[in-house]
Amino acid sequence: MTTLLDKADLRAKYAAERAKRLRPEGNAQYQRLAGKFASLAADPYTPYVERDPVADHVTFAFVGAGMSGLVVGARLKEAGIGDFRLIDKAGGVGGTWYWNRYPGARCDTAAMIYLPLLEETGYMPTEKYVRGPEILAHCERIARHFGLYDKALFHTEVSSIEWQEAARVWRITTNRGDDFTAKYVAIGTGPLHVAKLPGIPGIEQFKGKSFHTSRWDYGYTGGDADGAPMAKLADKRVAVIGTGATSVQCIPHLAKTAKQLFVFQRTPSSVDVRNNHPIDPQWYAQIAKPGWQKRWMDNFVENMGGGIPSEDLIDDGWTAISRRIREKALGGTPLWLARIVTRLRKAFNASPDQRTTGRVRAAFEDADIEKMEQIRARVDAVVQDPQTAAQLKPWYAQLCKRPCFSDEYLPAYNAPNTVLVDTDGKGVEQITETGLVVNGTLYEVDCIVYASGFEYGANFQLKTGFDLKGRGGQMLSDYWSDGLQTLHGLHMHGFPNAFAVQMNQAANMVSNIPHNIVDHAATIAQVVAYAERRGYAEVEPTQEAVSQWVSLIMTTEPSVITSTDCTPGFWNNEGQGWNETFRRAQGHPGGAGGFFTHIDAWRRSGRYAGLMFNR
Ligand code: NDP
Repeated sequence: MTTLLDKADLRAKYAAERAKRLRPEGNAQYQRLAGKFASLAADPYTPYVERDPVADHVTFAFVGAGMSGLVVGARLKEAGIGDFRLIDKAGGVGGTWYWNRYPGARCDTAAMIYLPLLEETGYMPTEKYVRGPEILAHCERIARHFGLYDKALFHTEVSSIEWQEAARVWRITTNRGDDFTAKYVAIGTGPLHVAKLPGIPGIEQFKGKSFHTSRWDYGYTGGDADGAPMAKLADKRVAVIGTGATSVQCIPHLAKTAKQLFVFQRTPSSVDVRNNHPIDPQWYAQIAKPGWQKRWMDNFVENMGGGIPSEDLIDDGWTAISRRIREKALGGTPLWLARIVTRLRKAFNASPDQRTTGRVRAAFEDADIEKMEQIRARVDAVVQDPQTAAQLKPWYAQLCKRPCFSDEYLPAYNAPNTVLVDTDGKGVEQITETGLVVNGTLYEVDCIVYASGFEYGANFQLKTGFDLKGRGGQMLSDYWSDGLQTLHGLHMHGFPNAFAVQMNQAANMVSNIPHNIVDHAATIAQVVAYAERRGYAEVEPTQEAVSQWVSLIMTTEPSVITSTDCTPGFWNNEGQGWNETFRRAQGHPGGAGGFFTHIDAWRRSGRYAGLMFNR
C-alpha cells in the first residue's frame, strides 16, 4: 500500500523528471524527412511504376488508402456507390501498416476489434494481438473483397482539391499530372503519417547508413517484416534513437542480430506484460455469430467508459487499465449496486456529480501508482544490470505516454551486445560523421535507426501537403486556422460533399482507432446513399450546426492523457499546455460512448439534423 508520504515523494519525483524534459521549442525540436533528408522518405517497399495521368470523373474520391479509405470504400460499395477511387502516396493500401514494416511491428489492441470488417471478409485473426504483416494482408483483403483496387492511384500525392461552383464537383490534381473530378471527396490521411526526425545538431553529417523505422531498409539489414533474422547486421554496430512504442517492438529483433546495439534513450517507456496467445478456431466459431464484431467494439467502449460494464469480452491491455481504475473507485461497493447506479445514470442522462468525479480522479492516481510500481518492479526482476534497470524505469503516470506491452523488450537488455545509453532526459547531444555523442562520449556506429515518431496535430495543409479550396475560394486551412470546425468531426461548412475521416470532435477513441473509422464510414455511406437516391447535388452542414457542435466539444474536460502535469510527449503537445487548437481536437464530452450513442440516434432518425441537402 502506498502511503500519503510516498505519494507526495512520487509526485515530486515525477515533477522533477518532467522538468528535465520540458523543451521551450516544443514540437519545433523535430524536423521532416524533406529537403536534405528527402531521400529518407522514399518508399523502400514497392517500385515506382510510370503510368499515364488520369482525367476522368468518379463519384467518390478518397485521399488515403489506409483503414479509413478502405472501410469507407467498402461501405459505399455495399450501399451501391460503385464508382470509388483511392489515392495514396504509398505504393499500396494499408496506410500506417503499409509504411511501418519494422521488425516486430504488432498491434496492441486486440485483433478481434482492431481488424475491421472481419465478418464481411470471413477472416479469423491468428492471434489475440496480431503482427504488422497480418494487418497489412487484411487491408489488402478488404481492398480485393470490395474491388477497391479498380481505380486506385498509388504513389500519387494530391496537389490540390478545388470545388467547382458551376459544375458542383471537386477538381483534383496530383503530382503525377492527374486532373480529374469527383462528386464527393473524403480525406483520411491518419493522425500519424508524417515521419519526423529529431533536430540533433550535426544529424546531416553522419556518413553511415540511416533510416526511419517507417522506411525500414531490409536491403541493408537483411531479414524481412515476417521475422526472418536480419543476418546482414551480424558485423554492424547499430544505434536506435528513441524508446517509444515502435522501438519497444523492434529492439528485441535488433538485439538478436546486430553485432552491437546502442539504444539512445531520452524517456523510458512503461512496458507492461503482453500475454499474447493464438486464437482457437473452435472458440472463434462459437463467438463469430452475425453482428458479433459490432457487439465486441461496443463492449470495448463500454469497458473504456466511466460506468460499470456488463462484461469484458476483449480483456486486452487497455480494458485492463480501465478495470483497475474502476475497481479502485468502487472501493467496497458491490458490483450489482454499481451496475444499477450506472444504468440509472444512463437512463436519466446524468453526468457524475463532483464527489464522484473527485473519487474517480483519486482512484485513478492510486490505481496508477500501483500499476507503475509493478512496471518498475518488473524492470528490476527482468534486467540483470542494476544501473540499466534503474535507467529503464519510467517516472510518470502510465497514461502520460503511450503505454507499451512486451515480453521481449526488457530481456533484450540482458544480451551482451546491447547497451542502453541513457541521456537523462536530454537526448542525443550531437551526431558526427561516425557516430553519436552523449555526455561527451562518442559512440561510433555503422547505422542509425530513427525511432523518433510522427508529427501530430500540425496544421492541416502542412501535414497533408495539399489544401481544400471550398465554396467562394475558402481554404480549409483558413477555416481551421484556430482549430478544427466540424459537425461530428466529419462535415465542414463551405465544403460541400466533403468529409474528414478522423477521430477528433467525434469519438476520439485513441485505443481503437478502427472503431472511429467504421462509425464514420457508416455515416458517410448512409448520407451519400440518401443524397444519391433523392437526386441531391450537394450536402453540407450549416455553420450554425458546426458552431453548436464545436461549443459542445469545448465543454469536454481535459483528459488525463493530455494533462500538463505529464512528462512531455506528442499526446500532450510536448508539455506546452492547452491552446485553443488543442482543446478543439478533443472528443465528445460524453466520451466515445457518448458520441456513438448520439450519432447512432442521429443516423437512425433519418433526418440528418444540421445537414443541408441542395438540388
Ligand atoms: P514516439 O513519438 O512515441 O517516440 C519517439 C521517441 O524518440 C521517444 O522515445 C522520444 O523521446 C525519442 N526522441 C525524440 N527526440 C530524441 C532525441 N533528440 N534524442 C533521443 N531520443 C529522442 O514514436 P513511436 O514511433 O515509437 O510511436 C508513435 C505512435 O505510433 C505510438 O504512440 C502509437 O500510437 C503508434 N504505435 C502503435 C503501435 C502498436 O499498436 N503496437 C506500435 C508502434 C507505434 P521522448 O519520449 O523523451 O520524447
